[in-house]
Amino acid sequence: MIVVGYGPVAMTTSAILGRRSIATTIVNPFPVFQKMPSATRLLALSLSSIELFKEHKLVKNIKPIGQPIKKIHVSQYKRSGLLEFDPTDIHEENFGYMVDEEELWNSLHSDVRDTSTINEIHSDVETIDCQNNKIVLKLSNGQNLTADLLIAADGKNSIIRKKLHFEVEKKSYNQIVLICDVKHSKNHQGVAREIFMKNGPFATLPKLGGYSSSVVWTESMAAESFLRSLNKDFLHEFITLRCSKELGKIKLDSNPSLFPLSFTYSKEVIAERIALVGDAWHAIHPLAGQGLNLGLRDIKALTDLIVKEKSIGLDIGNFQVLKRYRRVRRDDITILISTIDIINNIYKSKLPIVPKIGQFMIRAVSFCKPLRNLFMIYASGKHI
Ligand SMILES: Cc1cc2nc3c(=O)[nH]c(=O)nc-3n(C[C@H](O)[C@H](O)[C@H](O)COP(=O)(O)OP(=O)(O)OC[C@H]3O[C@@H](n4cnc5c(N)ncnc54)[C@H](O)[C@@H]3O)c2cc1C
Repeated sequence: MIVVGYGPVAMTTSAILGRRSIATTIVNPFPVFQKMPSATRLLALSLSSIELFKEHKLVKNIKPIGQPIKKIHVSQYKRSGLLEFDPTDIHEENFGYMVDEEELWNSLHSDVRDTSTINEIHSDVETIDCQNNKIVLKLSNGQNLTADLLIAADGKNSIIRKKLHFEVEKKSYNQIVLICDVKHSKNHQGVAREIFMKNGPFATLPKLGGYSSSVVWTESMAAESFLRSLNKDFLHEFITLRCSKELGKIKLDSNPSLFPLSFTYSKEVIAERIALVGDAWHAIHPLAGQGLNLGLRDIKALTDLIVKEKSIGLDIGNFQVLKRYRRVRRDDITILISTIDIINNIYKSKLPIVPKIGQFMIRAVSFCKPLRNLFMIYASGKHI
C-alpha cells in the first residue's frame, strides 16, 4: 500500500495498516523533522478518535498529553442563556481530550518509526497510473512504486486529488482565526467555552494542568491586517474582557498565530485503487473542533474494510471495498458539514433578527434534552 502525506491522518493510516502486516510506503515531499514545522494548535480529539488510537495501541501517551474535556459551555456575546453540554448525560466521563497538535504529531511519528513494515520516501508524486490491477506512481526522484492501493492523505490542497481531476467545492469562510495560549489564576475545571460573537466564535480550550488554555478567536477576514499588527496589551485586554469572569487573572503565554479559514470538499473520493481520506476529502470550519476527528473516522472505516478483506485473502484495493468505504462515510461527512454551515451562517449573518434566532437556538437546545444529547453523541463521535 502507498500513503501520500505526512499529517496525522497519513501517519495513523500507515501505522494501523503497517501493524496489520500490510507493507506500506509513505510518500511525502517534505523533510520530516522531529518537531512539526507549523505553529502549534490544541486539537479536540473525540472519544471515537481516542478509541481508535487505543484499539491500535497508538499514541500510547495520549492520557498524559491530553486534558479531558469535562464540559462544553456555549453562549452568545452580551445575551443571556448558557448552553451546557455535560458528558454524564450520555453516560461518559468526558467528551474526549484536548491534545497539543505538536505532541500528537511527535507521538504518531514515533508510532510510524516503530513499525517495521513502513518504508518512507521523500519525493513528489509525478504521475499516477493503473496497470494490471496495480497502482503505479512515478516519483520525481526517478523511482517507480507499485501497490494494490493508494491512500491520499495529503491535506486540503491534495496533489493526488488534483491529478485525478476530481471536482472540488471550495469556499473561503471570509474568516480568520487567531490562536494563542494564556495562563490564568482560576482552574478551568476541564470546561471548553465557546462564545458566539458578531464575526465568529471566541473559544477557550482547557490545557492540561488546569491553569492554562488555548484561545481561539475567530474574526472576519477584513480584520486580518488589524490582527497581524495587534499589540499585546490590546490582545490581553480583549481576552481578559471575554473570559476573566471564568478564568480569573489572564497572562498571555505565547505569540498569536493566524489561520485563514476555508472549506474544501471533493465531490468524488475514490478512483480505481485510490481513496482520499481526511482533509484531502473534506476540510471544514474548526468551530466544532471536528476536522481531524472526521478524518480519523474515515481511517477507521477504510482500514477495517481493508483488514477484513486481507484476512479472507482478497485483494485489498478492489473497487467494491472502495465503494463500500465511500458509502459508509458520506452521510457522516455531509451531515457534519451542513450542521457546521448552518451554525456558522446564523451567527455570522448581519440581519437584525439573527442574534434572537441564535439565542432561541441556545435556549431550545438547552431545554430539549434529546436534542442536546444528540449534539453530544455527535461531538463524541459515538454515533458511528
Ligand atoms: C484553527 C484550526 C483548529 C482546528 N481544531 C481542530 C480540533 O480541535 N479538532 C479536530 O479534530 N480538528 C481540528 N482542526 C482540523 C485539523 O487540523 C485537520 O482536519 C487535520 O489536521 C487534517 O489532517 P490531515 O492529515 O488530513 O491533513 P494535514 O494535517 O493538512 O496533513 C497533510 C499532509 O500532506 C502533506 N502534503 C502536502 N502536500 C503534499 C504533496 N504534494 N505530496 C505529499 N504530501 C503532501 C503535508 O505536508 C502534510 O503532512 C482544526 C483546524 C484549524 C485550521
